[in-house]
Amino acid sequence: APAIEVRDLHVTLGGATILAGVDLTVSTGEWVTVIGPNGAGKSTLLRAVGGLLATGSAVAISGTPLRSMRPRERARVVATVAQSPAVPAGMSVLDYVLLGRTPYIPPLGRESAADLAVVHEVLDRLDLAAFHGRELATLSGGERQRVFLARALAQGATLLLLDEPTSALDIGHQQEVLELVDQLRREHALTVLATMHDLSIAGEYADRLVLLADGRVVADGPPAEVLTEELLATHYRARVRVIPGEH
Ligand code: ADP
Ligand code: MG
Ligand code: MG
Repeated sequence: APAIEVRDLHVTLGGATILAGVDLTVSTGEWVTVIGPNGAGKSTLLRAVGGLLATGSAVAISGTPLRSMRPRERARVVATVAQSPAVPAGMSVLDYVLLGRTPYIPPLGRESAADLAVVHEVLDRLDLAAFHGRELATLSGGERQRVFLARALAQGATLLLLDEPTSALDIGHQQEVLELVDQLRREHALTVLATMHDLSIAGEYADRLVLLADGRVVADGPPAEVLTEELLATHYRARVRVIPGEH
């Protein structure tokens, strides 16, 4: 079964139709990035796949309907990095990343040496070892984004949902974070579903781009097929320049 299967997903929020019948399949190990103008429904789609919205039977993870998975079971499979995660005041990097182990720790606060070992391994892997005692709020945007990623990885999930993982970063750090995600994906056979509004970088890492507009998928394919001037001009309602040969 595919890692993610979304079939005819409808989401209504506050009386408005936000997603109007979305179909999406992501294979295991694949990286799919959802693009689309502001308000297209990208974050809503990710929240639905992450189990943060009621979706009936429209979403299945590795063949299992999302709604039949218990929260802990789901958290061991799917990890989400939100668009602007809350940064708890006074919390150290170590404690924050340890939150990623929550689905394995009964009762809370009784983490094992093994959980701490996972956390230290992830911090090492993301070049964050030196930051473990630092207060999260004091880190730069790029460092913080790595910590958010570390928490998701500490969850041990095989499916990473990343909502605008680079939107707070400058171009150098954007490349660095995406490169890191790509390496981890290859090493651990992770499946990545991301959203990105920055078209200059969205096509570089994804196997496929999904263009969402007004709650519908209007294109789904390899980056070169989706990043056409015509498609983008139509759906972004603006003239978008695509540099020939870049994608
Ligand atoms: P994107 O991530 O593509 O910018 P979102 O998924 O955040 O889009 O939002 C899609 C649309 O849904 C927007 O028009 C937004 O205002 C609306 N929306 C999001 N959440 C809610 C909510 N809880 N209640 C009502 N409308 C919402
Ligand atoms: Mg938005
Ligand atoms: Mg969004």
